[in-house]
Amino acid sequence: MHFNTFILFTATAVMAAVNEPCIGSGGRAGVCLTTSACSSSGGVSISGACPSDPSNVKCCTKASCANGSAGNCRWASDCGGGTKAGLCPGPAQMKCCSSAVTGFGGYKAPAFPGVGACKAVAVSGAKQVVKAFPGRVRQIYCTRDCACPGTSDHCCGKAIDFMCSDGGGVPTLSGRQIAEWVMNNRAALKLKYVIWGQRIWNPSSDGVKPWTSWRAMEDRGDITQNHWDHVHVSFK
Ligand SMILES: [Zn+2]
Repeated sequence: MHFNTFILFTATAVMAAVNEPCIGSGGRAGVCLTTSACSSSGGVSISGACPSDPSNVKCCTKASCANGSAGNCRWASDCGGGTKAGLCPGPAQMKCCSSAVTGFGGYKAPAFPGVGACKAVAVSGAKQVVKAFPGRVRQIYCTRDCACPGTSDHCCGKAIDFMCSDGGGVPTLSGRQIAEWVMNNRAALKLKYVIWGQRIWNPSSDGVKPWTSWRAMEDRGDITQNHWDHVHVSFK
């Protein structure tokens, strides 16, 4: 779900997506933080990975958080082992994870909407994505309470939100692979555009490239509206 379309930030209010996810060097899970907050929690900052943020906000990662054992800082929803609080930079959802294994998904198969208000192309797309990523999609949303045509493709039953973390508003890095798969399967899906992690890709204007090079979107203010808990896919 994203309830973004009614919220328009003006040029004077380009807010930083502080405390939201980013990808650090080596694909490591990071959090956008001021460099001072990062260093005071033992993290390392890299530039360019929090694109809508002011220059003192950078992607902060911490490779080791458990006093020499295998712990690493990551978003709790993505931890394949046990978690400990208080050892990582950023908000409480960044935790020290005991396992190096990525703990994406592990969800029961989501229910699919019937074809009707949710159009066949969207239902078909939802099934294709879930089949390609078993266990990774926790819930699916198609329609929304709005008139078609409206401010969103959800109003016309031609968009799907693939919720891929432990809950609404819970950040994850899991959606990147799903979003890139959607790009690579754009023809079969009849893709109009895909959004993940504050970046958008549209087959009519963008070349095939990694998500990190997709067009950055403005900061819409929270994890859900910045698409860090779900992949949004619009269909033709
Ligand atoms: Zn959506």
